[in-house]
Amino acid sequence: MLNQIKSKIHSHTDITNDEALWLFNLEDEVALREVYALADQINEELNHGVVSYIHNMNFNYTNICELYCTFCAFRRDGDEADAYIRSEKDILQSIEGRGISEITFQGGLTEKVKFEDALGLLRVVKREHPEIHLHAFSPEEIDYYSRTTSRTRREVLQEAREAGMDSLCGTAAEILDDEIRQKICPTKISADDWISIVRTAHEMGIRSTSTIMYGHIERPKHWVNHLSRLRELQKETGMITEFIPLLFMPDNANLGRQMRRLGIQQNRERLALKMLSVGRIYFQNYIRNVQTSWVKFGLDFAVSTLFAGANDLSGTLYSETITRDAGGQNGEYVSLEEFERVIRAAGKTPQERDTLYSFQKGNSLGTKRSVQIPSPVPVS
Ligand code: SF4
Repeated sequence: MLNQIKSKIHSHTDITNDEALWLFNLEDEVALREVYALADQINEELNHGVVSYIHNMNFNYTNICELYCTFCAFRRDGDEADAYIRSEKDILQSIEGRGISEITFQGGLTEKVKFEDALGLLRVVKREHPEIHLHAFSPEEIDYYSRTTSRTRREVLQEAREAGMDSLCGTAAEILDDEIRQKICPTKISADDWISIVRTAHEMGIRSTSTIMYGHIERPKHWVNHLSRLRELQKETGMITEFIPLLFMPDNANLGRQMRRLGIQQNRERLALKMLSVGRIYFQNYIRNVQTSWVKFGLDFAVSTLFAGANDLSGTLYSETITRDAGGQNGEYVSLEEFERVIRAAGKTPQERDTLYSFQKGNSLGTKRSVQIPSPVPVS
């Protein structure tokens, strides 16, 4: 089977879902090393040893949330001492003097923060720092604001864009399979709704990222269903900029406690290498950028994943609170100089990017392999 998959990769042909499932089910270390090497080869052909990163920050405008996702250690009811709602002054202060090019802007779902309040935060950033790219709202937030304002999701996206949203976060995808969503986030939007909202954004000319949150109670078949939905969407719109696998952090979440009760144990490094490499093999050039996460893995292991299909080291990332609340131990900031140093030490070429993967010299979103990405849908 591995030879069959290699031959498909050499002829730039899509691997099937059954082949992806076979790759995910591999346990033999020697075979897995061949899988990592194949992913590395695709990455080299697409990205030529360039490792990108972005100078950015996360801004979580509130941690108060009405939902109870079992994997979430970030949410608060609202009456705890550390529950918060951030103001316009807060967001401007947090940007000051940092020279960042992107803010990832997301929050909990609460009637205490109206859609207009969140838009106000976007507007004030655009007014004071028009050069900063606002990567804002998850599809879940778009749905929430649609329901609470009686606007269509398209109208919410349009108002967000008018307030300054430049692209949509591909978060809240978790696992795009309702069997798992029912268990870990039963009150969240369905997999179909997630795809529908992202498709609507793409139709409007708003690009998005894509994520998967893996390493909990899901099985390989659910990973395949997830990747399949993303690849189909990307074939349709071509507007997904990157694939970001997010390894579940079990320490402080109810889902982690449930896993410990059930005796679920995982080789987390192997899991991470599998997801990055099979993701790279499955997407080939449909989604050219695969991101690894120093926040979740630590910088040393994140660098080692650059040889298993990843080409992006994510962001310098001030103010990463979600992973730290979940038990992540890897701090909240790595300097641009440190990124450059570790990438060069790995024998790769560092390159700072913007959110849409434009570099100073050229844009990395074009195709170099024969697999074709459809042209973006024009802005309506
Ligand atoms: S993951 Fe998001 S929607 Fe779910 S409980 Fe946490 S903050 Fe709320």
